[in-house]
Amino acid sequence: MKSREVALLKEPPAPSGGAPLLTIDLDLTLRRYEAMLLLIILFLTGSLFIAPKPAAMLPPAPRYPYRIALTFDDGPHPLFTDSLLRLLRDNNVHATFFVVGRLAMEYPNLAGEISLAGHELEGHTFTHRNLNRLSDKDVTRELVMTKGILEKITGKQSLYFRPPGGRYNGRVVNLAAASGLSMVLWTVFPKDHEEPNPDVILARVLAQASDGGVVLLHSGVPATYQALPRIIRELRSRGYRFVTISELNARPAPLHLVADK
Ligand SMILES: [Zn+2]
Repeated sequence: MKSREVALLKEPPAPSGGAPLLTIDLDLTLRRYEAMLLLIILFLTGSLFIAPKPAAMLPPAPRYPYRIALTFDDGPHPLFTDSLLRLLRDNNVHATFFVVGRLAMEYPNLAGEISLAGHELEGHTFTHRNLNRLSDKDVTRELVMTKGILEKITGKQSLYFRPPGGRYNGRVVNLAAASGLSMVLWTVFPKDHEEPNPDVILARVLAQASDGGVVLLHSGVPATYQALPRIIRELRSRGYRFVTISELNARPAPLHLVADK
């Protein structure tokens, strides 16, 4: 390359000034070429470093914040509900509580605090029994008694219920519908009621979370409270926004819920 450039430079006839002068000029010209080449290399190399990543390397941008509902079963709990409410307030999250009617009747102030804090208060039957094994009359009584207690506490209409243990059949669903209640199950089941390590609860929630998801957690499980701040932080960092069941159901598309059987 270099010899070819030199050859080209030598092509014009030499001025009458003599060979020494030409040698100096040639050296300067060569250095200029080397400097330009170096600049070009630096520019190209530099441009590679600042070039944006290809689109395929970037995570897909969500069209809207993903929505997910935290739900807490089995309260209100005289030892735990207050701290759970504080934790949710500190993290600016509104959740949905499926409370046992009998406990709401026993601790109406706690149930009222849940509603006053902006959370959704819904029923989990009156005595937490397997609805599949009850007569039609008893299923209705379990649901309607709880609905009445909650409506008296909140002053709002109770619209949803969650069957204990997720046990239901078509008869239960129809009896609930006749009482003005829609069944809510869940899509995220970290099995926190078995009290695993908080890290395990967190990992299971993150692995199962999806847009429009419903997370089943329980009142009265210390490991759940330990995991909760991280669950909230991690889901938010993944683009999730926390909503109540009513907010989730207000979406134009129908709410699709899958029970973990
Ligand atoms: Zn339960």
